[in-house]
Amino acid sequence: MALHIETPLLASPSLSAAAGRTVWLKLESLQPSGSFKLRGIGVACETYVRQGKLRFISSSGGNAGIAVAYAGSRLSIPVTVVVPESTTARAKALIRQYGAEVIVHGTAWDDANALALSMLGDDAVLLHPFDDPLLWSGHATLVDEVARSHVRPGAVVLSVGGGGLLAGVVEGLRRNGWDDVPVIAVETVGADSLAQSLDAGRRVTLDAITSVAKSLGARQVSEQAFAVAQSHPVRSVVVPDSAALAACERLLDEHRILVEPACGASLALAYDRADVLAPYDNVLIVVCGGATATVDDLRRWAQPSISGGA
Ligand SMILES: *Cc1c(COP(=O)(O)O)cnc(C)c1O
Repeated sequence: MALHIETPLLASPSLSAAAGRTVWLKLESLQPSGSFKLRGIGVACETYVRQGKLRFISSSGGNAGIAVAYAGSRLSIPVTVVVPESTTARAKALIRQYGAEVIVHGTAWDDANALALSMLGDDAVLLHPFDDPLLWSGHATLVDEVARSHVRPGAVVLSVGGGGLLAGVVEGLRRNGWDDVPVIAVETVGADSLAQSLDAGRRVTLDAITSVAKSLGARQVSEQAFAVAQSHPVRSVVVPDSAALAACERLLDEHRILVEPACGASLALAYDRADVLAPYDNVLIVVCGGATATVDDLRRWAQPSISGGA
């Protein structure tokens, strides 16, 4: 039994009307951990247990850490999540809710990750948030489910942080014979490490993440993500935080589903009828979800004076 659930796939009348074409939503926001991350992390955790690992370590104060905590609770494996001081109280509470230990260490993620690495031994394994082939094969199952439902999308829209979702979805498209289905890879301004890398022709490392979409905040995409963005038809798009936040509010009003701006970025293409969608009669949006934002956060981030800050 997989740790993730099969999620609903539904055509959205409101998003279809806004986009001027059929918009399918794959509702990863309904995963028990609140995001698609559980697909890949679930597969990785189950594999590491079979290999004899007795403890999971994560250094993610976001949806990856929450997914590891959930997976550990299901597999009866103790989990330690090391996070920097900047991690929100809500994220820490979500991690602890699944019985995981939270250690707060350092001001930046690099400090937390260094401590996490020092805790590894023969028995403990570090779950990477996006750069692990096991993760990609797990994320690919979302495409398997779409293929089984006989919906063939003209294009798949998804958000990109470190590129684990991108790598996994492309793997899923390929293993279902959909090599020719393009992917529209969306980032926000200030978290646009893939767009900048494709422009430069090499993997760029951002100095800082200035977007409110913290779940897209990998300073550099993985080698695999950069490679598939060039070997598969991938269009890279960057939207402002304001568009991502507006999309979150509209989804909440119209579908009664709360997601992070990281997810709103993908939805914004449909709400704003982006030109990049013009060639397609129907598109599939991966509603990647995210459990760390509250309605108050969305409102606060939408204030012009704070938008773009932390
Ligand atoms: C992790 C995450 C992303 C980005 O995924 P990557 O695999 O890092 O590209 C997007 N949205 C949400 C909600 C996430 O948790």
